[in-house]
This record gives sequence, structure tokens and C-alpha cells, in this order.
Amino acid sequence: MSDFQNPVAGFGVTFKAMFKKRLTEQYPEVKKPTAPRFHGRHQLNRHPDGLEKCVGCELCAWACPADAIYVEGADNTDEERYSPGERYGRVYQINYLRCILCGLCVEACPTRALTMTNEYELADRTRESLIYTKEELLAGLEEGMVDSPHAIYPGMDEQDYYRGLVTEAAPGTQRQVAVSKGEVPPGGAAPVAGDEELRQKGVQS
Ligand code: SF4
Ligand code: SF4
Repeated sequence: MSDFQNPVAGFGVTFKAMFKKRLTEQYPEVKKPTAPRFHGRHQLNRHPDGLEKCVGCELCAWACPADAIYVEGADNTDEERYSPGERYGRVYQINYLRCILCGLCVEACPTRALTMTNEYELADRTRESLIYTKEELLAGLEEGMVDSPHAIYPGMDEQDYYRGLVTEAAPGTQRQVAVSKGEVPPGGAAPVAGDEELRQKGVQS
């Protein structure tokens, strides 16, 4: 190519690019939807009555190649029950400064307590704000759920929860929780027979 043709060829590339479809994304004003199975922020799931699925087994922490998960399990008691079985995750943290969103922890979880959401906005200015706590990771309450701790569904055991036999919180669970905390039950209803017993014993399974 001659010295004269070189710049012309260069401008040719620019000229062609002017008619190509623009790929610029106007983030954060316009957020592009992710693929349905995108690996985003984690979530700790609940059973349909609001009890937690995590049993504090630490398998997710052992599976993590980046050492990003910290779990401390603890025993449930009749007075304070967070999950249907013997143990629950008392402390649960994921460090998003380390996490590479690979999903190995989700594969390792035996109870499907841990899954990933489509949320990808995980940037912040401080280390503390990027270490997500159990309270931040725990799924919100859906219809029919009552926040843990509360009693297991009467007549059901842990296996029944995994068989899908529990579909919502047992009638009166909200009242049990409020009474055991010494709070006014939902709707401000007047005390009924058995409330005092519940308050003294706490919420029992
Ligand atoms: S997604 Fe991968 S790196 Fe992140 S916590 Fe799970 S196993 Fe660890
Ligand atoms: S999230 Fe799953 S694997 Fe991790 S501690 Fe809880 S039950 Fe175990």
C-alpha cells in the first residue's frame, strides 16, 4: 500500500464503524436484564412457614475455593427454633471482596438453603459493607410465612418439610411469636386462654 493509501484505509475503518450498531450501555440509568440463571448475590432461603432451611453444616464454606463464607451453627431449642431440625446457622457471612460468584457453594448445600439471585450491583466503598451478614442474605417473608424463631408445624417433622408437606405457617403461629416475646398479638386482639402459658414457656415445638 502506498503512503497515500494508508490514511485513506485508516479513515475507511472509521467510516465503516459509524454505521455499526452501537454497543454502549447507559448503565446505571438503564439496567440490562441478566440471564435467568445468572450468578448474582446469594440468598438464604426459608421453608414455606418461614423457618430457615440452613442447618449450619458448613458444607458451603468448605466447598468455597475463595474462602469467602463463614458459618457458625448452633442447636435449636424448644424456646428458640430457627429451622425444623436439630441445628441452624447462627452466624452466616459471605465476603463479596473474595467471592468469585462461581456457585460451588450452592452445589454443595444439601438443603437448597443457599441459592443465587440475579442481583449484580455488589460494589461499595468499605470492607464491612461487602461482608454480607445472615440478616442481609436471608430471604424476605412471602405470603403464609412467619419470621423465625417459631415452633415447627404441629404434627410434622424435619423430613415432612423436605417432602413439601408444610405449605404455610400453622394457624396461630403469629400469635405464638408475639405472645412469647411479650408483644401485643397481631390486630391487638385481647388475650385468650393459653396466652399466659405460651408467654412463660416460649414458643414450643
Ligand atoms: S460463589 Fe464461589 S466464591 Fe462465592 S461464596 Fe460461593 S463458592 Fe465461594
Ligand atoms: S447454606 Fe447449606 S451448606 Fe451452607 S451451612 Fe447452610 S445448610 Fe449447610
